[in-house]
Amino acid sequence: MDGCVFCRIAAGEVPARVLLADDEVVVFHDVAPRAPTHLLVIPRRHIASLAVATPDDAALLGHLLRTAAEAARVAGIADSGYRVVTNTGPGAGQSVFHLHFHVLGGRALGWPPG
Ligand code: AMP
Repeated sequence: MDGCVFCRIAAGEVPARVLLADDEVVVFHDVAPRAPTHLLVIPRRHIASLAVATPDDAALLGHLLRTAAEAARVAGIADSGYRVVTNTGPGAGQSVFHLHFHVLGGRALGWPPG
């Protein structure tokens, strides 16, 4: 989608520290990490948020979550524990309106999140 920074990262038009990628998804390091390891898992295809995902997106959503787990393994935080979260809507803190799952780890994580 024109003007979407995550579409542009997926297309290689905006630089990012990419950890993993395949035909459907890209994993890269968050530019403003909130934990020692902070990754973002995105679909290449533009979906604004989880709220507008459709039944046709079910396989892609599953692939995104499985990729989040694989990214945690590759980043070395699988054994110590990590959190996967997607902020949905401005009230929940979503600031980039291209679906993404945060993968956070490398420190103790409080619950509930603020
Ligand atoms: P959210 O606020 O949940 O929508 O998460 C968006 C995340 O994207 C934030 O944690 C930002 O730090 C991160 N972010 C925004 N632009 C970039 C970028 N160009 N490269 C990497 N991470 C980014």
